[in-house]
Amino acid sequence: MDSNFDSYKISKKVMDLSLKNGVKFLPNTEVLKFEIENDKITNILTNNGRLDFDKIIIACGIDTKEMLAKLSIKIPLMPIKGYSITVKIPPSNIPLKYNVCDDKSKVYVTRLGD
Ligand SMILES: Cc1cc2nc3c(=O)[nH]c(=O)nc-3n(C[C@H](O)[C@H](O)[C@H](O)COP(=O)(O)OP(=O)(O)OC[C@H]3O[C@@H](n4cnc5c(N)ncnc54)[C@H](O)[C@@H]3O)c2cc1C
Repeated sequence: MDSNFDSYKISKKVMDLSLKNGVKFLPNTEVLKFEIENDKITNILTNNGRLDFDKIIIACGIDTKEMLAKLSIKIPLMPIKGYSITVKIPPSNIPLKYNVCDDKSKVYVTRLGD
């Protein structure tokens, strides 16, 4: 089943729960380089200095490919082109009750807000 949700609200909730559980967020901190010794990452260099770490998870969205390339790892990651428009439903039209997906032509229609 397809569905939609308020991505800001869910992201905020995940962030609040993470903070409560001891996760540290480092905004405006860009990973620039990994220092490697004997095939192991020894340091993460950022625009705000070096970072301590136990384990690393690389989750840079579309930039993951570039980040992994710094470690000489190649992955076949490609963004998919897409376009979206948002239009107001005129009062004379009945708003959609369910999402509409046409996989063959790759067109998806969903109701946002009221
Ligand atoms: C216009 C648009 C509309 C979309 N609409 C939808 C939708 O309606 N529904 C849906 O399911 N998906 C949608 N998507 C796709 C969705 O946003 C992505 O699939 C999702 O955000 C991927 O999450 P992620 O955590 O893997 O990566 P991202 O959300 O891209 O997060 C990666 C993070 O890594 C950070 N980063 C990158 N490089 C570095 C670095 N060197 N150092 C430090 N940080 C770095 C970036 O700043 C970013 O914060 C949309 C995408 C776009 C662009």
